[in-house]
Amino acid sequence: MKRSSLYFTEDHALFRQSVRQFIDQEIVPQTEEWETKRRIPHSIFRRMGDLGYLGLPFSEEYGGAGADFWFSVVFLEELARCGMGGFATAVSVHEYMAINHIAKAGSTDLKQRYLVPAIKGEKIAALGITEPDTGSDVSAIRTSARLDGDEYVISGAKTFISNGTYGDFITLAVKTKPEAGTNGISLMVVDLESAGISRTKLNKMGWHSSDTAEIRFDEVRVPATNLIGMQHMGFYYLMESLQLERLVAAVMAVSGAELALEWTLNYLHEREAFGRKIGMFQAIRHKIADVATEIEVARQFVYHTCWLFTQGEVVVKECSMAKLHTSEMQKRVVDTCLQFFGGYGYIEDYPICRAYRDARVGTIAGGTSEIMREIIAKVVMDAVTYKGVYEGRKE
Ligand SMILES: Cc1cc2nc3c(=O)[nH]c(=O)nc-3n(C[C@H](O)[C@H](O)[C@H](O)COP(=O)(O)OP(=O)(O)OC[C@H]3O[C@@H](n4cnc5c(N)ncnc54)[C@H](O)[C@@H]3O)c2cc1C
Repeated sequence: MKRSSLYFTEDHALFRQSVRQFIDQEIVPQTEEWETKRRIPHSIFRRMGDLGYLGLPFSEEYGGAGADFWFSVVFLEELARCGMGGFATAVSVHEYMAINHIAKAGSTDLKQRYLVPAIKGEKIAALGITEPDTGSDVSAIRTSARLDGDEYVISGAKTFISNGTYGDFITLAVKTKPEAGTNGISLMVVDLESAGISRTKLNKMGWHSSDTAEIRFDEVRVPATNLIGMQHMGFYYLMESLQLERLVAAVMAVSGAELALEWTLNYLHEREAFGRKIGMFQAIRHKIADVATEIEVARQFVYHTCWLFTQGEVVVKECSMAKLHTSEMQKRVVDTCLQFFGGYGYIEDYPICRAYRDARVGTIAGGTSEIMREIIAKVVMDAVTYKGVYEGRKE
């Protein structure tokens, strides 16, 4: 049989159908409520856990599906089609940015205590890197963890933390050897209900359904067994997983842009001006051709980068390019699409309005466009190369 895709099989197509049905039936109808309340109920995580969506890439030993990466790509594409950047972020941060560290480098005990309930959707996870005084420069974080007997004592603050307000635990980046820069950072799991933690919900421009918090840690005691992997290796674990994080962002940006295009095409076929459907005006048709081309070209590059990633390659340059290009592309696409809705594009009842707000943060969160360009320039101009953290540190 002739295959229609280099990457996806019939099984992926069937899986896509089931996720799409779930998103259309159980997520999209909740949009207004969740966006207005600025909160997603815990129950939807449990539902997704029951459906097996929260453990796609993880080992069956811990309740995961052990599915190949293309199932995750399908899942993320369909997730973004809910049209709520906030919901898509909450789920993707949980599954692909917070608990993946535990799956990759955590002890069996940590996996049992946190990965298993997270895959079931019983516990919601956050990832804490950014601090009030530093975001792009991860080496400058100041939140510290000092060893005291068989516990770490954590003090400091994190900000802009997705799932930080209502989440149950956080994969936290801390300085365990402050004088050692990048060689003094560790990752550990912290229960967000621990004594000494205070959380403040932040009021955002978009991504309303996702909760974002500033979290303060005042002498918070955490069992030493909550350390993920090796002490002082946290920076390298983070850098390695940033590839996945950026791919996830890129996959969802392309899908989000495509959804905006679909809404716009429908509108162009309905709305009339000067006695014709507005989709008949050549000025609009050519812009739509540009938008469709931008999306398709981006999609193929992202798929290729996903494929390199599945081959176990260290694809720092390509992942950075994918994140840079798709987040900037999504912003351009949504802006163009909104224009064709005329005044209605500015009205909250129209999802393109939300898409415009939601797309804005794409070039900031998960590494800004400027930082992506820095990384790409280092590879292209200075011949910097990267190794996987499990093989060794940056050359
Ligand atoms: C809605 C939202 C959700 C988020 N979720 C999370 C989360 O779950 N967990 C988490 O840890 N973080 C999260 N973040 C934080 C996000 O990753 C950071 O905001 C981002 O990395 C930028 O850091 P910063 O805000 O401190 O900006 P800064 O680092 O202060 O940068 C400010 C400006 O300076 C530019 N700049 C900095 N360094 C350079 C340079 N070397 N060259 C050129 N320009 C430079 C930046 O590009 C930017 O334009 C989230 C942010 C938002 C807005």
